[in-house]
Amino acid sequence: MDQSTTTSTRRAAELIALEERYGAHNYHPLDVVLERGEGVWVWDVEGKRYMDCLAAYSAVNQGHCHPRLVAALEKQAHRLTLTSRAFYNDQLGPLCREICELTGFTRFLPMNSGAEAVETAIKLARKWGQTVRGVPDTESRILVFDENFHGRTTTIVGFSTHAQYREGFGPFAGGFRILPYGDAEAVAAAMDEKTIAVLVEPIQGEGGVVVPPEGYLAALRDLTRARGALLVCDEIQSGLGRAGKLFAYEHEGIRPDVAIVGKALSGGLYPVSGVLADDAVMDVFRPGDHGSTYGGNPLGAAVAREALRVLVEEGLIESSARLGAYLLERLRAIRSPHVESIRGRGLWAGIVLRPEAGGARRFCEALREEGILCKETQERVIRLAPPLVVSRQDLDWALERLERVLQRP
Ligand SMILES: *Cc1c(COP(=O)(O)O)cnc(C)c1O
Repeated sequence: MDQSTTTSTRRAAELIALEERYGAHNYHPLDVVLERGEGVWVWDVEGKRYMDCLAAYSAVNQGHCHPRLVAALEKQAHRLTLTSRAFYNDQLGPLCREICELTGFTRFLPMNSGAEAVETAIKLARKWGQTVRGVPDTESRILVFDENFHGRTTTIVGFSTHAQYREGFGPFAGGFRILPYGDAEAVAAAMDEKTIAVLVEPIQGEGGVVVPPEGYLAALRDLTRARGALLVCDEIQSGLGRAGKLFAYEHEGIRPDVAIVGKALSGGLYPVSGVLADDAVMDVFRPGDHGSTYGGNPLGAAVAREALRVLVEEGLIESSARLGAYLLERLRAIRSPHVESIRGRGLWAGIVLRPEAGGARRFCEALREEGILCKETQERVIRLAPPLVVSRQDLDWALERLERVLQRP
């Protein structure tokens, strides 16, 4: 090892030690310290290059430090960054119009993090239930699903089925009922006059890239419509191109009453999330009902506007569909003693390992050695979700390495 390599190795160790010493221990990252990113690639402090196959859980669909997004951020940072919603700003109105025109909804409510947007959708559904459906908010119920992931607030983790997300964080809010994911019959049986909404991920991301059986979302659409309940789709991870469509629910030709967006809405530069709905639902909110100091700020709005334009103008959604099909086909052709199945849609794959394979973490560590960054989910699923700017050549590069790692004993 030459002098500079040992120095940067020491620097990596020091940076990890700093987080361990002064940061809260609520994460267990891989031992890699990143300092630079461009497109699908990131570099660690030792100068080693990796392909980012996690893309910050799909927040970085547009690729790291996309030049157009950096320019939009920089330009707006010099003009105006935060006004609060006590005043109007010149970026929010245009963002609302552009996202409505793109998605087909008539109103947009901006927030910051994904969890906040889910909370907003829950409040919206409840107020709609009370004022439009006449179900008192003390009695209304929202149907949710096993292995769901909607964020980390106390209300949301209260209906998680993942023990660690809940344990020690109660007491929890009521008003939710958990049903098996992918089972439309169970929803039909559970729907009653108190059911005001069904909250569902069209594809479960944290659950391990779980694609529901064909016809499931369409069945939920029919059931909710017939029973006068709202269909609320959490598209924070599955949306904005990840699954090969603007929204994953489009694969079943449906349109929910409420769609929740986040993550790639700002392409990794700045947190922007929000809720989309039509007038009949969104108009139950009155001034003062809900808000956020940073929600709808001009800096975030300018970045989100550009992030949406990049998604459309660079053909990233079509690319996700086309290259995603290629990725899944190549993954399915890998002969490996460890792989049980491959699932996914668009540029989003879950490599499900056999129970005896010893968990996904060791494979993620081996892939890191090969220059690929990804993260296990659900113990034995390797999730692959590269930025949508990935090229076929980049994918071939990654597939060669994946093959090598999966074929080892
Ligand atoms: C990531 C995610 C969230 C939470 O988003 P945060 O920005 O981390 O709060 C909610 N729902 C889904 C489906 C997600 O993947």
